[in-house]
Amino acid sequence: GREIHLASRPLGWPSEDDFRLAEVVVAEPRAGELLVRNQVMSVDPYMRGRMNEIPSYVPPFEIGRPLEGGAVGTVIESGSALFAAGDVVLHQAGWREYAVVPEDAATRVDPGLAPPSAYLGVLGMPGLTAYAGILEVAALQPGETVFVSAAAGAVGSAAGQIARLKGAGRVVGSAGSPEKVAYLSSIGFDAGFDYHDGALRRSLRTAAPDGIDVYFDNVGGRHLEVAIGAMHPHGRIAMCGAISMYNADESPAAPRNLALCMGKRLTLRGFLAGDFADLRDRFVAEAAEWLNGGELHYRETFAEGLDAAPRAFLDMMRGRNLGKMLVRL
Ligand code: NDP
Repeated sequence: GREIHLASRPLGWPSEDDFRLAEVVVAEPRAGELLVRNQVMSVDPYMRGRMNEIPSYVPPFEIGRPLEGGAVGTVIESGSALFAAGDVVLHQAGWREYAVVPEDAATRVDPGLAPPSAYLGVLGMPGLTAYAGILEVAALQPGETVFVSAAAGAVGSAAGQIARLKGAGRVVGSAGSPEKVAYLSSIGFDAGFDYHDGALRRSLRTAAPDGIDVYFDNVGGRHLEVAIGAMHPHGRIAMCGAISMYNADESPAAPRNLALCMGKRLTLRGFLAGDFADLRDRFVAEAAEWLNGGELHYRETFAEGLDAAPRAFLDMMRGRNLGKMLVRL
């Protein structure tokens, strides 16, 4: 089987040379382990942080070792009484065609409820991030105006729609191209704008002339600064990500208006999807119902084959994805 190793630690923007395709002998599963043929794997923004040496809430990837991340595959050999060959499981040993996974690191998924890829996106970690961010972190109240950045991506597109489904009065989003802005209106955003078009502040004011109550921040930097400026008193900012800064080699200057948070009594709260594991069952049940009822839409952008995974990761960081970026293996 083949796997992708980290070849070197990128400084600033990674390149495909920072990754290496390796051919390895597939191990036999021992007692309590599963051998899984991965069908689909996820590339996610947080993986950029794991390419750095710096310890974070997840340990760094190791040079010369396979990268890791969410994947869904079929059990082909089981050393566990809990799983049988043919089961479809979600686990964290992505970036490889075959994975040996301890039974306690695998979760069975129901391919009858949704396609396997959905468990890496709308029904998986990104969906839970959106759900927890809107409902728990931002504590959305009915009638409020919500602004979502990176709104055509996996988390952002779910966050905007969940806000709407939970009674937001107005939902607006920013994204990186006219096609993405058109997609936002097709899934029920009230307004959207391309953040490359002119002044961010003016674009947000046009989209949300009366200001905003909730900002779901996927981008950080200038987006965060402009959102702070547009917040109503007692507004909440769910700090989900800061993708505009992940490949920067120097610290950002924005937001320069943080002092406004006092007068406006804003709440800025960072969070991780992992903090909300106890919401998962409720989230999956509710999201599955929305999907079945046609109330929640999602898109996926696929790259084909393991060798395309590094490029897929880079394409996602550059915004070439609509919805969730995935690699079919
Ligand atoms: P997306 O599907 O949204 O893909 C990333 C998108 O980011 C790209 O498509 C691109 O879209 C946008 N982007 C890239 N660079 C910039 C930039 N400089 N300014 C504005 N937008 C940019 O990825 P995810 O949905 O997986 O993740 C979205 C965010 O959520 C990330 O910040 C991620 O780190 C965070 N996250 C946080 C989690 C948590 O637990 N806190 C869990 C999961 C994700 P465009 O064309 O619009 O620029």
